[in-house]
Amino acid sequence: MPATDALSRFQLERADVRGAHVRLDGAWRELRAHGDYGGALGVLLGQALAASALFTSALKFDGKFSVQVQDSGALKLLFAECTHDGHVRGIARWDGAVPQAAIRLDQAARMAITIDNHATRTRYQGVVPVEGGELAGAFERYFTRSEQLPTRIVLAQAGDRCAGLLVQQLAGGGGHRLGTDPDGWNRVQHLLATLGEDELLDTPVDTLLLRLFHEDGVRLQGAHPLAFRCSCSRERVGDMLHSLGRAECAAALAEQGSVQVDCEFCNRRYVFDPADIDALFAADGAGTATRH
Ligand SMILES: [Zn+2]
Repeated sequence: MPATDALSRFQLERADVRGAHVRLDGAWRELRAHGDYGGALGVLLGQALAASALFTSALKFDGKFSVQVQDSGALKLLFAECTHDGHVRGIARWDGAVPQAAIRLDQAARMAITIDNHATRTRYQGVVPVEGGELAGAFERYFTRSEQLPTRIVLAQAGDRCAGLLVQQLAGGGGHRLGTDPDGWNRVQHLLATLGEDELLDTPVDTLLLRLFHEDGVRLQGAHPLAFRCSCSRERVGDMLHSLGRAECAAALAEQGSVQVDCEFCNRRYVFDPADIDALFAADGAGTATRH
């Protein structure tokens, strides 16, 4: 099977609906290789990753979309991110043995959505309760609220793949335009409700959309490749160490002879020796980070 890591945008012209489809194979396998994502934790992470890619289908600028979820139970961290140019990464942490059965997030679960605009260097963050214990519903409510457009999302992860499908009623939808069907949005929602997870995971996007929505004028608008790529860098790690402060770095040097930082997303190791640490703080004024 050819590489299928892609985000595809589409329209259902007769129903006045826009949509996006995502499928992650190789990118998902690569991400998964960097962590312990067995059982239902992998399902949750795969779903969040698929959702973050779906959300970039609505980004109107260069930037990135990230989602972070925490609850008061064993889920310590769930984070997934996708950039406008299709780079995904993610991380999940679970306290104790990961369950095999589907994870339902608890009442306290909160989802933070962050959108970074690279050009204006601005960041928007919204926090919504997860409610109902599952991610797709929380993403739907976020999207419906923030864009004021009714949205439905299906997310799936199994084996070596994750996938997602999003449909959204366009502003002014509901049959006001010539040639559109006033019942289109209802029909699209009913059809989406018939979609099983296996079908979403196993069916190529063009076949899937035609099978589900053949009456609604499916128009695919191109597919964009997705790939696992971490945005960590020596410069960023240096900034982080600088913000920790000279004393903290000096303590680590005294203990280990160098400061080692492992990226949690990609396992890359950054090593700073005493001279590197000196250089980090050199601009701060007189003195050095450490002297043995
Ligand atoms: Zn990294």
